[in-house]
Amino acid sequence: MKSKQEIKVGIYARLSKDDERNGESLSIENQKLILEKYVLEQGWNLIDEYIDDGYSGTTFDRPGVQRLLEDAKCGRINTIIVKDLSRFGRNYIQVGQYTDYIFPMYNIRFIALNDNVDTSNNSAGMDMMPIMNIFNEWHSANTSKKIRAVIEANAKAGKYRTTYAPYGYVKGTDEKKLPVVDEPAASNVKRIFEMRASGISPKHIAMKFNDENIPIPSDYRTQKFGITAYRFSHHLWTCDVVKQILRNPTYLGHLVQLRTTNISYKNKKQIKRPDEEKIIVYNTHEPIISQELWDKVKEIERSVSQGKAQGNQIVHPLSGLMYCEDCGNKMHIGWNNTRHSRKGPRIYRQANYNCGGFKVFGTRVCTSHMIKFEDIESIVLQDIKAKAKLVLENEEQVRNDYLKRQEKDFNTQRINDTKQLKSNSQRILEIERLIRSTYEDKVLKKIPEDICISLLNNYQNEKEQLQKENTQINERIEKLKQQTKNVDEFIKRVKKYVEAPILTREMTMELIEFVTIDKYRPKNDPIPREIHIYYKLIDDVENLDFKRNCQKQDRL
Ligand SMILES: [Zn+2]
Repeated sequence: MKSKQEIKVGIYARLSKDDERNGESLSIENQKLILEKYVLEQGWNLIDEYIDDGYSGTTFDRPGVQRLLEDAKCGRINTIIVKDLSRFGRNYIQVGQYTDYIFPMYNIRFIALNDNVDTSNNSAGMDMMPIMNIFNEWHSANTSKKIRAVIEANAKAGKYRTTYAPYGYVKGTDEKKLPVVDEPAASNVKRIFEMRASGISPKHIAMKFNDENIPIPSDYRTQKFGITAYRFSHHLWTCDVVKQILRNPTYLGHLVQLRTTNISYKNKKQIKRPDEEKIIVYNTHEPIISQELWDKVKEIERSVSQGKAQGNQIVHPLSGLMYCEDCGNKMHIGWNNTRHSRKGPRIYRQANYNCGGFKVFGTRVCTSHMIKFEDIESIVLQDIKAKAKLVLENEEQVRNDYLKRQEKDFNTQRINDTKQLKSNSQRILEIERLIRSTYEDKVLKKIPEDICISLLNNYQNEKEQLQKENTQINERIEKLKQQTKNVDEFIKRVKKYVEAPILTREMTMELIEFVTIDKYRPKNDPIPREIHIYYKLIDDVENLDFKRNCQKQDRL
């Protein structure tokens, strides 16, 4: 973090009369020398030196340290270096308050050279610091934990704890205060999800809502309930507000609690909780949107691209979904501007996609890979229509073909797996019987103990082996089931486009993962261009090296 930012150091030195009497070896001059040398070695920028000569470290009521803290707060310095913690202060509670709480808040790095303390990393010294403070603070820490435990218990019981219900709901009046659907806000929420599912970006949803003068959630709350939450607002929908709504599972009828937490009892700044710590209580109240719509939105967001809207706010069907086969960069939209006649107005016409690597860095990275809009769109449309036609002609056959493509020997595998699973399970039952009877024989002293133990061991090993095998088979069967589901979903989606007159953004979002284009060839070149269309649900794109390559280069 600090590496990008200029490191502005303030060094602090202190010596009290007591220290001198106790034979502290380091004079102010010596402390300064050590610290200056360190700063110089690190190549950092020394801004100022703060000295307290003849002051005790038990209080912070020292002119030098006060000036140091002022400068740190106002940003004149962002790194404080002392020889050791006791130079900074002898009261470890106060020292801890600075190092644990105040310095992190102001983004100030604190280094105590000899104690190996550096607040920017977790050096061993840092681990010791809480121990230095713990005896004095165990009481307050305990109380904080108790309060947090109560809050968590309430959350798990499905009690709604929040100041406001999210936009689209109002807080209920029942004991649990569960959200109740609130029109017309709820319709707006639904509309946001539907728009997103059709491929419209959060930014454009916000723009649309602003065009229609729909009040933003906080203004709506003020109008309806007279609650003023934010004093400063530009009263406009933003991309972030839309995204927040799209991410909120409350609209599915589930309660998600404890989305934020305090860093610790010392620091009340709120942070987001990791997903696994959130508490979700399912189906607690009336949903505003369906699971299906939610899934559709999630799928759109997983797409390799959200597409880029052109000036006229249209997102072209393949925008952001095309990659250069050779360098892995995204294809950029290129514009050909042609002047119709000398007198007429200049007509801009978007014409083609070009390799982004070539566009930014020229031939050092790649070649143009140019392909016309109309060409690639028609190729993709034809491919989709051909697939749809095949499905309509012989759905079962196509279905099997897709499944086979995902898993070679799909059917044989499935039959063998089922057989194997059955025979394994039978053998496991048999082994269990054998184990029982071996025990009986041992009890009745029919077999010697050592033989009995070796028998039992063998049975146990075999049983474990079979169980392991069964787990693997079950996982494989589960995967095949999921693949079957995916193939069915793809068939359902593609079918409806058999007569599609043009390629639309909705179609590409539903069907296409991405498209790759190889290098440009003139019309009379005998070698055809290679264009690969990777489909959602039926193509195993996760395991393509190509995609990983693409994602690495997405930022270009
Ligand atoms: Zn390229």
